[in-house]
Amino acid sequence: MKTQLLPADEHSIAQAAALIRAGGLVGFPTETVYGLGADALNPRAVLDIFAAKGRPADNPLIVHITQWAELEPLCQANEMARKLADAFWPGPLTMILPKKEIVPPEVTAGLDSVAIRMPSHPVARALIRESGCPIAAPSGNRSGRPSPTLAAHMMDDMAGRIPMILDGGPCDVGVESTVVSLTGDTALVLRPGGVTPEMIAAVLGECQVADSVMRPLKEGEAAPSPGMKHKHYAPKARMTLYEGSPEAVSARIIAEYDALPAAEKGLILAASGHIALYGQRNTADLGPDEWAAAHNIFAALRQADADGVTRVLSESYPESGVGLAVMNRMARAAGFDLVQV
Ligand code: AMP
Ligand code: MG
Repeated sequence: MKTQLLPADEHSIAQAAALIRAGGLVGFPTETVYGLGADALNPRAVLDIFAAKGRPADNPLIVHITQWAELEPLCQANEMARKLADAFWPGPLTMILPKKEIVPPEVTAGLDSVAIRMPSHPVARALIRESGCPIAAPSGNRSGRPSPTLAAHMMDDMAGRIPMILDGGPCDVGVESTVVSLTGDTALVLRPGGVTPEMIAAVLGECQVADSVMRPLKEGEAAPSPGMKHKHYAPKARMTLYEGSPEAVSARIIAEYDALPAAEKGLILAASGHIALYGQRNTADLGPDEWAAAHNIFAALRQADADGVTRVLSESYPESGVGLAVMNRMARAAGFDLVQV
């Protein structure tokens, strides 16, 4: 199959919507990362998403809509959902709610809850509207690879596997949506993203964070969100995260980098303000703050692969605000190899 990469304009969005209606797959930009979409109510099309990604069958998809009225047929809404939708939709927040009959089990991997999001990206919204159906879409990477934040990333992973990718330029947020479960009495963040636990608590009065967000699951432990048990976001290189004071962290990273055997190719991930500390060593600048780091992290990990890097040494971010989302992705990319210095 030849994959068409088209600039996202009125004409290509109409073509993409026709593909979705016919049960096909389309790569498209959202404000978080690129998604791989299909008609959420067409079980065969949904199964094709799993096949194209190589995604484990037990990892459910997110269903994308453009307005509240489209949510009601899909799931049982509640007061928390209405408040969060008022505050954060359209935007990078996915809500887990009890599903209704119409949602095929292929979308939810057999769970009795469904993940719903209303994206703000104009291309994503136009595509959903013109398709006339909710669109099931996980991130558009091959399973286990960093999520795509450029159409070119998606071409790298999906060329030959899907008929079309809409190019809408770089994604704004750069990490996947916040996933919050609203099936209990209190909102519970299963995956941190651009809508932070602090922002959710400000609306609902309370918000918990699943502790599996910042630690690996124990042997045999059930994942509150199935996606969290799978290896994720990983570059080919071995990666380590260093936590501590900026001075101690940079000194340790420099020592480790300089001790690498000649056969290894090292890369240091650092904040803009620290880049100069590393002199001529190979660095990737993650930007001035944690919002920039969220925007840049996946591209940096993909570039590391493209450059043949074998060892990534990374600075850390405070686990608050969007820093929690950055650290969640980096800790997983590092296989939870976190070193305190
Ligand atoms: P992706 O957008 O590819 O990163 O995948 C969607 C994420 O949402 C995965 O981490 C899933 O595990 C999570 N998710 C989707 N549906 C549910 C659900 N019903 N309950 C818990 N987590 C879910
Ligand atoms: Mg994903």
